[in-house]
Amino acid sequence: MLLGCAGSSKASVPEPYHLIPGRIPLDWQGPDGNTIVLDAPKGLIVFDTGRSPQHAQAILDYAKQRHQPVAAIINSHWHLDHTTGNYDIRQVYPRAAVFASNAVDGALASFLNKSRVQVDRMLADPKTPEGEKDQALRGRFRIDHPETLRPTRPILKSGRMVIAGRTLDIHLSKFAATEGDVWLYDPKTRTAIVGDLVVGLVPFMDTACAQGWSKALDAIAEVPFKTLIPGHGPVMTRADFGTWRKAYNDFVECGQSKADKKQCIDGWEQEAAQFIDSEHRGYVRAAASYYIDTRLRSSPEEQQRYCKPLRAS
Ligand SMILES: [Zn+2]
Repeated sequence: MLLGCAGSSKASVPEPYHLIPGRIPLDWQGPDGNTIVLDAPKGLIVFDTGRSPQHAQAILDYAKQRHQPVAAIINSHWHLDHTTGNYDIRQVYPRAAVFASNAVDGALASFLNKSRVQVDRMLADPKTPEGEKDQALRGRFRIDHPETLRPTRPILKSGRMVIAGRTLDIHLSKFAATEGDVWLYDPKTRTAIVGDLVVGLVPFMDTACAQGWSKALDAIAEVPFKTLIPGHGPVMTRADFGTWRKAYNDFVECGQSKADKKQCIDGWEQEAAQFIDSEHRGYVRAAASYYIDTRLRSSPEEQQRYCKPLRAS
């Protein structure tokens, strides 16, 4: 099945990567981040592992179909829509090393600790549907067992690394979408895999440092990629990325100004129109409004909350 795969259909030419697209459902289910699988001499490298059991299963099915072990996992960042599947994969491939930044430690002491309280409240509510409870329990297990989220091979700085026998340019952008965002560039195929530093629909700014994120986009722009795979949404060309980057910077500038909020939301919707399907338009507008309120137009301390290391709160 070649759907979602890139590269030549000729079996003799290996595809540069295999994409398992993450869904963004409009109901209570949270999104799954995109997963990108790369071939390496020692097995498969899995970049991000999604949230739902179905997404993790799709990764495991692909590995089985390829008759290759998962040799390494790389997490772009600690958000649970990119890391929950780590545990499922390591149940099957316990020797898979996990490469990620250490930012999850600060998150466990603050953001994730708080969301655990919300999860308990939800589980105690008899009105919560069973499916939603299952997902909440799945997330809570990860928070209660931080070793399922932590790297076994922490990424502390940018540089060329050999992962599962394959050489990759690993980048660490600090204080961007999270405290430590890992992205990679494969010089051989000129592909950049950037996690949530680029998200088709709307930048997910829940734990964002707006200005640091902008700097991370500058760093991505300096790399001579031809193809860019975002954390959510379809694959982009270099020109697409340029459009998205400008839309991001304009959205932040508008959000932090005194301009009418509706004008900022309209601006995002227009500039990023090519990345927004009609089904998600309402979702995008609601999210943009929420991020203006909570991240861009909140108190100066709140705006800077994620521009420094997270601590227990
Ligand atoms: Zn995400």
